Amino acid sequence: ATDIRSWIANRIKRDEITRYMDGDRCFIDDGAIEGALERGKNPDPGRVREILAKSLAIETLTVDEAACLLHVEDPDLWEEMKAAAGEVKRRVYDNRIVTFAPLYLANLCVNGCVYCGFRAENSAERRRVLTMEEIKEETRVLAGTVGHKRLIVVYGEHPASDYDYIADSIRAIYDVTVPTKKGYGAIRRVNVNAAPMEIAHLKVLHDVGIGTFQVFQETYHRPTYERLHPAGTIKGDYLWRLYAMHRCIEAGVDDVGIGALFGLHDWRYEVLGLLQHAWDLEEKFGIGPHTVSFPRIEPATNTPYADSPEAVVDDDAFARLVTVLRLAIPYTGMILTARERGDLRHKILPLGCTQVDASSRIGIGAYADVEEKQKGERQQFILGDTRSLDEVVRQLALDGYITSFCTAGYRCGRTGQKIMDLLRSGREGHFCKLNAVLTFREWLDDFASEETRVAGEKVLAKELAEIALRFPDMYPRLHASYEKVSQGARDIYF
Ligand code: SAM
Ligand code: SF4
Repeated sequence: ATDIRSWIANRIKRDEITRYMDGDRCFIDDGAIEGALERGKNPDPGRVREILAKSLAIETLTVDEAACLLHVEDPDLWEEMKAAAGEVKRRVYDNRIVTFAPLYLANLCVNGCVYCGFRAENSAERRRVLTMEEIKEETRVLAGTVGHKRLIVVYGEHPASDYDYIADSIRAIYDVTVPTKKGYGAIRRVNVNAAPMEIAHLKVLHDVGIGTFQVFQETYHRPTYERLHPAGTIKGDYLWRLYAMHRCIEAGVDDVGIGALFGLHDWRYEVLGLLQHAWDLEEKFGIGPHTVSFPRIEPATNTPYADSPEAVVDDDAFARLVTVLRLAIPYTGMILTARERGDLRHKILPLGCTQVDASSRIGIGAYADVEEKQKGERQQFILGDTRSLDEVVRQLALDGYITSFCTAGYRCGRTGQKIMDLLRSGREGHFCKLNAVLTFREWLDDFASEETRVAGEKVLAKELAEIALRFPDMYPRLHASYEKVSQGARDIYF
């Protein structure tokens, strides 16, 4: 117990907060947010259309502009906004959707977030920290049976799952390869969702080769944050969390993922908080967030807060916040998780989302452990969409999307500023479109059911024809690689 207390006491490095601040002011400007929300009421349709044109030019909106969009009530104008959000996504990411799976590795936690099943005082939660062998077992199922190439690994905050454990666990995941029908399966990009860290520890993760580092601020509204995260806990420190992504970029991990947990405070406020966060990263480092997440609170075992009416953001508000986020930060990736029901995901996806998870299990050890799958007391919360990756890929294909299993980005230096510039200018498409085709071919051959393969082949044929037309100089190289992949070669990318 003394060890844990001293670990907690030494976790926060004060100078790694203050160095990014303007005196005692942080980048969340409560007055500016409240003021913009007041001024944005009853927006003029002409002004709204001007703002949409700015989004369509892939420019980040100001807080005032986003506040106007948040207040649009006219149904026809909302339809225009939704169409513009979908168009922004197409201009930056075309018809590609990336899939991934969450992998929970450790649920011990020293914090007391009132909405989370993993909070320290929740005695109904069964605690586990997976061994390296158990992690490899989980990976074998994900990479060998389901066919995922990307994971987001999730940890509670605890000395038993500190940065060194996180680094070891990621190495263990990258170590696994599993033979498949035609080639082999492996996880090629591990993104991390863990507690904020100091720069030295983030450098260790950078050296292991992580993709995105995600930290959600939960709520940007400081009084609410302080009410829901007990004082004296590490997570109780609003500023340590607020500058987690700044430290990340400084440590060299320049794909950073921000997010808010919707249901803690007014959703409009959170959208503007996320936007101020993006702006501060852009201003200080020239790099905005690689992804934005917008989870809503889900019920969790023995966690009354998560069931309270206070925590409800309804589906209509959810659609609005997704639309405005897409329009406000046009270059960023947007993650729509299986916390949401399948039918709702189907409606929300076209508003500009770029990533979805599938075949998700959020119990510790739940992929490999057939007996224990999805038992409530080992899960952080309850999932809304439990469809398999095969089903999700098929639905996407029927809707005209190509599922991209591409993980080339961080492995060939297309991260941070480089990827931002490519995304903003629409040039990212060259690489991503080709890599989507190659990795989709790979996945269809290794993992798809017959039904999904048929739906997928139609999308592939359309993509190949489009590439021949749009990038004729690149087509011969793509075609040669495509043939190799069809014969069993794996992990070819541009
Ligand atoms: N412990 C680390 C942290 O708090 O940043 C990382 C893991 S934590 C399990 C990951 C995220 O889960 C949190 O940032 C929070 O937004 C989300 N979360 C917690 N409780 C939730 C709930 N009841 N429903 C939906 N999401 C929840
Ligand atoms: Fe721990 Fe993260 Fe859950 Fe908070 S949200 S209790 S820090 S696992």
